[in-house]
Parts: sequence; structure tokens; C-alpha cells
Amino acid sequence: MNEVHVLFEGYSTQNPDGSMSANCSCVLIKTGEVRILVDSMTPWDGPKIKESLSQHHCLSQDDIDFVVSTHGHSDHVGNNNLFLKATHIVGHSMSHKDKYFEHDFDASSFTLSPGVFVKATPGHTLDSVSVIVTDTRLGTIAIVGDLFEKEEDLLDDQVWIEAGSENVSKQRQNRAAILALADQIVPGHGPMFSVHKAKVS
Ligand SMILES: [Zn+2]
Repeated sequence: MNEVHVLFEGYSTQNPDGSMSANCSCVLIKTGEVRILVDSMTPWDGPKIKESLSQHHCLSQDDIDFVVSTHGHSDHVGNNNLFLKATHIVGHSMSHKDKYFEHDFDASSFTLSPGVFVKATPGHTLDSVSVIVTDTRLGTIAIVGDLFEKEEDLLDDQVWIEAGSENVSKQRQNRAAILALADQIVPGHGPMFSVHKAKVS
């Protein structure tokens, strides 16, 4: 059975002075053989990611085989440099040391481990991806970056549109596709939620 652990729940809040505070959801996926980190937060979060991996999962940064950044925004890629043994996927680009791999994510998903794959879900950015994990205790879990900002955006389109969408109609289409295939969604900036009764507004 595959395991999904939300190391840190993402958030985004409007401050009284009009500025925004935000950080992304950071997720560890453990399978039989392979360990994957999804979205590495801001550059200031390295010590707490390392501490969470070691204290709760007895893992060091060198035990991570893949780092997937759902897209290239600065609050999702800040600590990629901690994971030097990993293969890195950032949106549609993939590299390990100086080897740069091409994969046509628009044509097919990319399998990281049995039941764990990376799928193109453009909208928030045109090269955004989601990680789909099947066979977990909670069914199929989709870790979607900012395709979904937070659960509240199911009821109010403006929440995800105002968070930034490079292509609203593609994002709407991919949101529907993820709702159809997942039991649980980890959004970019909110706690994991169940899709049982969720509908795209
Ligand atoms: Zn974000």
C-alpha cells in the first residue's frame, strides 16, 4: 500500500495591509521502494523539512528519490537543492545532475513507482503537473499544486482564478478531471479534502 503524508499544510491569507502570506503544501509519498517529495516550499523552510523527515519518518534528504515541483513558482521550489540524490521534476522539465530528460507530459503521464504517476494538469501555469497516488489507505490521492488553491475554491471560482490562472478553461477542465479520478485532494494552499460530495462550481 502506498503512503501519503502531508508534512506541512499549505495556506494563503490576506493580511490587513493588503499583502498576502502564503506557503505551499509539502507532501511525502512512501512506496515500497521509492520516496517522493512534492513541492519544497520557500527557501526559508529547509530546516523544518529536514526535521520533519527525520523526526516523523526516520529519513534524511538523501533518502528522497524524486522531488516533484508541481510548477515553478517560488513558494513551491525553495528547497529543491536539499535533495541531491533525487531526480527532479519541475513542471514538464526533468533532470538528474547534468542529465536533462525530455518527457512529453501532454502525451502521457510519467510513472514514479507502481501506482504513483505524474500527470499534466495545465491551468494555473501551462506546465503544471499533479501527482496521483493510487492504492492508499484513503483511496486515490491527488497532489495538485495550485490547480486547486484550497477546498473553498470548489464553491467559489474566484478563489482559484484570483490565485492566478494562465488558462482558466484548461484549469476548469483539469479540475473536473481530477475530481473524477481522486478520492482525496491535497491543494496547493490548504488542507487535504475529500472529493466525495465536491462539485466544481
Ligand atoms: Zn502556490
